[in-house]
Amino acid sequence: MQRLGIICDHLESLAPARLSAEWDNVGLLVGDREAEIARIMTCLTITNDTVKEAVKQQADLIVVHHPLPFQPLSRLTNDTPEGRYLLELVAARIHIFSPHTAWDSAAGGINQKLAEGIELSDITPLLPDKIDPGVGEGRSGALARGGQVTDVANRVKEFLKIPRLRVVGDPQQEINRVAVGCGSAATFLKAAKDCDCQMLLTGEASFHHCLAAEASGIVLLLAGHFASERFSMQILADSLAMQFTELEVWCSEMERDPIQLV
Ligand SMILES: [Zn+2]
Repeated sequence: MQRLGIICDHLESLAPARLSAEWDNVGLLVGDREAEIARIMTCLTITNDTVKEAVKQQADLIVVHHPLPFQPLSRLTNDTPEGRYLLELVAARIHIFSPHTAWDSAAGGINQKLAEGIELSDITPLLPDKIDPGVGEGRSGALARGGQVTDVANRVKEFLKIPRLRVVGDPQQEINRVAVGCGSAATFLKAAKDCDCQMLLTGEASFHHCLAAEASGIVLLLAGHFASERFSMQILADSLAMQFTELEVWCSEMERDPIQLV
């Protein structure tokens, strides 16, 4: 058993709230810091499947990338899916912690791991934090040997274990520097260009961001929102299991990408 407050302090050290976006809602979202925790499940999102699994497997804490609640609540009823999830988790005394954009930007967080996973070198934040420039939003780095778009795409597919991904731009473009931003990070296009990157790897982008990328000569690789972030919740589970050896920690086994190819 471990006190929730101690686990929260450790999560906060891995993903300091200071690094989170202004609009975000990170940290302990549902919980009693004095509660005793024995079982922790990590997942990307609170959904019907992850709620079911957490209840069935008797988790005491869910560490979830995407925050719930996210918006301020004026009522908590079972009239909405989110209300149902929260009521069910509270009834089962399951607490919720979300590191979200703090985890995206952290020293060992999603974007750093994504950049390392596709073997970039000289990795630095795309938009460095003002207090600690070693961390910050997104990452950029160099390819050891310059490469083709397909070489980088293959590295991404291998690291994220996905069969295919979407590409915007010239497939013949020579790539020397790559920017990465997990989730929906097409807003990093300008920062990627400013860092002399020829490519931006992200999860998803709107049609208009795709057109903007094409017009600015940046190749966009779209790996899917789920794939671009989900791998990191296994990393977080492993890290918690190492820190708190007395606890049972696992990454959700039921969670699936809601988008399927048919
Ligand atoms: Zn996301």
